[in-house]
Amino acid sequence: MNTPCCERMATDIHHRCSVHSERSDCPDAFIAEVRGGYGLMVHDGGSSVVEIAFCPLCGSKLPEIGEPDHFLSEDEEGD
Ligand SMILES: [Zn+2]
Ligand SMILES: [Zn+2]
Repeated sequence: MNTPCCERMATDIHHRCSVHSERSDCPDAFIAEVRGGYGLMVHDGGSSVVEIAFCPLCGSKLPEIGEPDHFLSEDEEGD
């Protein structure tokens, strides 16, 4: 897990909504951790994340996002 670059990032990542048990269901959830880096959550009904290289809140350079673990076995996707 990364150390968030700024207070607002930390607040978002650790935010727990009382209405939505999953962050992916909550439109208030903004930032997601992605393979060592960060992304913007896309609330399209799935769990899409737009990978980002810089923090949209403070402008800091973010850690690089790693390759997907299942890069060679996309068929096995699913929670
Ligand atoms: Zn919510
Ligand atoms: Zn930041």
